[in-house]
Amino acid sequence: MASPLSIHTAPAHHDDLTEGARRPFDHCRAERAIRELLIAIGEDPMREGLRDTPARVARAFAEMTGGLRDDPGKHLARVFDEAADELVVVRDIQFTSMCEHHLLPFTGVVHVAYLPADGKVVGLSKLARTVEVFARRPQVQERLTRQVADAIAEHLGAAAVGVHVESEHLCMRVRGVRQPEAAMTTVAWRGLWKTDAVARGEVAALFRGK
Ligand SMILES: [Zn+2]
Repeated sequence: MASPLSIHTAPAHHDDLTEGARRPFDHCRAERAIRELLIAIGEDPMREGLRDTPARVARAFAEMTGGLRDDPGKHLARVFDEAADELVVVRDIQFTSMCEHHLLPFTGVVHVAYLPADGKVVGLSKLARTVEVFARRPQVQERLTRQVADAIAEHLGAAAVGVHVESEHLCMRVRGVRQPEAAMTTVAWRGLWKTDAVARGEVAALFRGK
């Protein structure tokens, strides 16, 4: 994904870590809303091809927003004590999220790095699950980046965390400015790497595959 449109540094916020009791997905309500949307765009929701669409779209939205009803802490709770203090880097975790401004998908990759503290590490699949929990919600890329970094910092107590997200937004491709090639990069740093520019630069180079 060359020529990034913009590079944002996601600021630190801890406001969105709380995972309260979430309401279950309301399939009936979602189906009604999709039927209404079809009428609003001038379609006939009773015609053959559209008859099952509201139910189908409702199921798709239930899946695409499943992260609202999941807790990242659950996936990061299984911490291994490996007496490890070396840098861990996981590149190219694929994700699909949903832009909360247009309810259209944005897709890309997440690179995660952390410096374990007290030998605490977590399975690779758990990092991917954590990305998925935050991605499967109405999102903005800056917040997704921040939430993944905060969750790893909090649940692993890592000494340093870096998260780099690169993605393409369908809302930029199909509407508005219609820039099919535009990619967006966001990064978030926690712990030591917030202040240590040299170490941060080394991790950023690893993220770029260098
Ligand atoms: Zn959008």
